[in-house]
Amino acid sequence: MANDNKQGKLYLVGLGPGEAEYLTGAAMSALRESDVVVGFRAYIEQAGDLLAGKELVSMELGQEIERATKAVELAYAGRVVSVVSSGDAGIYGMSGPVFQVLNGLDWDGHNPQVETVPGISAMQAAAALLGAPLMQDFCAISLSDLLTPWTAIEQRLKAAAQGDFVVALYNPRSRNRQWQLMEARRILLEHRSGKTPVGIVKDAFRPGQQVTITDLDGLEAIAEDINMVTTVVIGNSTTYLLQGHMATPRGYRDK
Ligand code: SAH
Repeated sequence: MANDNKQGKLYLVGLGPGEAEYLTGAAMSALRESDVVVGFRAYIEQAGDLLAGKELVSMELGQEIERATKAVELAYAGRVVSVVSSGDAGIYGMSGPVFQVLNGLDWDGHNPQVETVPGISAMQAAAALLGAPLMQDFCAISLSDLLTPWTAIEQRLKAAAQGDFVVALYNPRSRNRQWQLMEARRILLEHRSGKTPVGIVKDAFRPGQQVTITDLDGLEAIAEDINMVTTVVIGNSTTYLLQGHMATPRGYRDK
């Protein structure tokens, strides 16, 4: 696409959880306007036809900083670049690495222009499929200790448990990372009942979607089914079940 004044642009685009219907109009426009699209192969493929004719820079897990660097270089060279993430790019997504790269350069805040296009994050998608679990204060905790030491994650789990936050767990369990989920359960059980509802959403708004509701006691038995395309939502002390849904009242007074 012609970019006569050579003013580069970086879009940080959230693609939403999966199905094209959950990709925002603004995300579509950003992708359409872009010369280059950077992201994980699977997510890029998710955007399908929108990408016809674009230069694609696909990446594998662990290449986030390299790809962010590449995207920033292209934008400095005057290209319009979309860096895509699933869900929201600003939630455990590519926005972090891009800002990190800009932070290491003499970025003037204008050139390249940076614009974030928010997307529906996994916890919102999961909550929608479960009912209304995120109704009071809640937090997201990633159980991945790839970039964050386990001691910090443990500290956050304890604080969330003590604070009676509803908790959305991202990156709950992978082939090489299995005990963390059970450790999270153990920490939460120190402050809440075994009957606390737990919603498990796998592949939200994607083919193969699975929604399961259990409780903290029951979580152990089905932990094997939980993987990296799963978000786990753990209720607080007021969360209840209703006809196969999981809901948290708007406030404690309604309990
Ligand atoms: N930026 C993304 C999160 C990336 S971290 C977002 O805002 O949603 C990756 C984790 O997100 C996965 O391990 C999983 O916990 C969660 N996740 C992403 N897409 C999901 C989906 N469609 N269904 C369930 N969980 C999902």
